[in-house]
Amino acid sequence: MKSRRDFLRQVSASTLTLASVAVAAEAATNSPPASKQLRVALVGLGSYAERVATAMKSCTLAKLTGAVTGTPAKADKWAKDFGLNKANIYSYQNFEDLKNNPDIDAVYITLPNSMHHEYVLRAAKMGKHVICEKPMSVSVKQAQEMIAACKAAGVKLYVGYRMHFEPYTRELIRMRQTGELGKIMHVNAYFGFKSGDPNQWRLKKALAGGGALMDVGIYCINAARYATGEEPVWISAEESKTDPVKFKEVDETITWQMGFPSGAIAACATTYNFNNFERLYVVGEKGFVELSPAYGYGPIKGRTHKGEMSWDTSKMHQTWQMDGMANAILNGGPDFNATGEEGLRDMKIIEAIYQSIAANGKKIKLV
Ligand code: NDP
Repeated sequence: MKSRRDFLRQVSASTLTLASVAVAAEAATNSPPASKQLRVALVGLGSYAERVATAMKSCTLAKLTGAVTGTPAKADKWAKDFGLNKANIYSYQNFEDLKNNPDIDAVYITLPNSMHHEYVLRAAKMGKHVICEKPMSVSVKQAQEMIAACKAAGVKLYVGYRMHFEPYTRELIRMRQTGELGKIMHVNAYFGFKSGDPNQWRLKKALAGGGALMDVGIYCINAARYATGEEPVWISAEESKTDPVKFKEVDETITWQMGFPSGAIAACATTYNFNNFERLYVVGEKGFVELSPAYGYGPIKGRTHKGEMSWDTSKMHQTWQMDGMANAILNGGPDFNATGEEGLRDMKIIEAIYQSIAANGKKIKLV
């Protein structure tokens, strides 16, 4: 009888095509010596940190070796679940002690959005490489300071743009780059979900910075940019709110358009008000790509003008991401553009969207 592992190997072998073999090679799947692994500490042990930690169990180039938490009870659980040495588990107060820990090369910030800036700056000061979750910050100014701090400290700064490492998304980008889609004419990108607990930090402006736009709308901004390979030159946006009590502090639903130098237009939307809202549709003069779902944990599905897409879905996105980032940091491999600068570009667009909403949908020009 075949094991699940054999089955997955067989499925991935039969579905891997040349481009995904290249993706796999770029993410460096050969087992390196242990000393050649990027040793990572996660900062803020919430639900996303747990997902990243689980995904890292399957990494070859990245290894979880530490953690930082404000909840002492999590230390035992994380030591047990992820094989961490308890001496490598820190609090927010003694975070700086991590500086001299030779078991930790990089920290991965998975805290609420408004805390990213402080912890990226503190990590850079310690001389550790930094991976920071999206949105990178809650303002353009913060993002610029984070990039400058990492540059000054001589450490790398990446943003947790996992889709940049995901095979279906990589194929979309490859098709655009090689001209298979022809001139890109239109992008339709939307992503949202029904937000639950009214007391969660995501609905508090001081911790989240914004609502659906900062949380998941950012995937659509980023996708429109990797689908066109261009930066928008204008934006117009509108917000609607069906529950002004729950969404008193942050945005609930936003629709926006972005115009690109080539003339391509992106029509985008995001929400915290309903489910089943996740798609990326890219139309060029010679063909199209449709990914749906396009941004969630997957499996991502898609079709193009050539037919159904079939790519390797055997790995968690965060496994691709962490091996890819480790390969970039350790070996100078491709960073798939998941950099601090990429995060800053999205933050500029987020600010322009809020600016347009505040001006009743006025078209905002971006320089
Ligand atoms: P959670 O609420 O599940 O976890 C956040 C953790 O941060 C908490 O568990 C806590 O960990 C720590 N924390 C410290 N101070 C606070 C505070 N004042 N309020 C709340 N938590 C605090 O959030 P997520 O894991 O869902 O999100 C974390 C980050 O990851 C966000 O920036 C989010 O945008 C991003 N994210 C990215 C995803 C992706 O696919 N790339 C998906 C989901 C989230 P402790 O108890 O250890 O101190």
